[in-house]
Amino acid sequence: MTKTINIAIDGPSGSGKSTLAKMLAASLGYVYIDTGALYRTVGLFAMQNGISAETPEDVVPLLDKLDLQMRLEDGGNAVYLNGAKVGAEIRTSEASVYASQVSKVPAVRAFLLDTQRSIAKQNNVIMDGRDIGTVILPDAQVKIYMSASPEQRAKRRLAELVAKGEDITFEQVLADIKWRDENDANRDIAPAKPAEDAVFLDNSDLTLDGLLQAALEIVSNAIGATA
Ligand code: C5P
Repeated sequence: MTKTINIAIDGPSGSGKSTLAKMLAASLGYVYIDTGALYRTVGLFAMQNGISAETPEDVVPLLDKLDLQMRLEDGGNAVYLNGAKVGAEIRTSEASVYASQVSKVPAVRAFLLDTQRSIAKQNNVIMDGRDIGTVILPDAQVKIYMSASPEQRAKRRLAELVAKGEDITFEQVLADIKWRDENDANRDIAPAKPAEDAVFLDNSDLTLDGLLQAALEIVSNAIGATA
């Protein structure tokens, strides 16, 4: 089998990773993989089983009752939790807290590792997350680390949540974003941090087209250099 091309995009919540990853996937004809959706689904599973967000490690003994599959459907990622497709319920603020909490548990990260690697082995992918360039795909041909100011990220996230009908203020969203940044960056296992060979992309002031063009340039420099 010929080696697939893997593009890793890491960065904090609301930095625009998924927006960029989707645009790049459409532009290059690659598959987009949203790894956050996997952690969110494990978080949902913990919620459904009455586990407190304060003790996420309680989900570990239940993992053998969790069948989690990511399928590529209609150009998007469909995640199935014990046979049922998950939807908007993994995108609420509460689900975000659960996702961040279960993602600190080593057994949860180990549980999701193969799912992520096997998709990248079989497809040319743009994969977004927190540890894609450092842990999941350390040999990715392209690694991008995105950032944007917390205020800019909170503004984008607020618009998404309000569009989904959540009753939440800018201050609450900003506080959630800062809490998640801390929680994701300071965990013992796979902390959210740039790979040494990642290219930084600051998305505070870019238009969508400016963002895509900047990323396409990074991709062509990197793939050209490794070809
Ligand atoms: O990217 P998204 O905001 O959907 O991710 C939800 C949570 O899942 C993050 O706050 C982070 O704690 C966790 N996550 C992770 N590693 C990844 C992707 C997401 O720890 N590769």
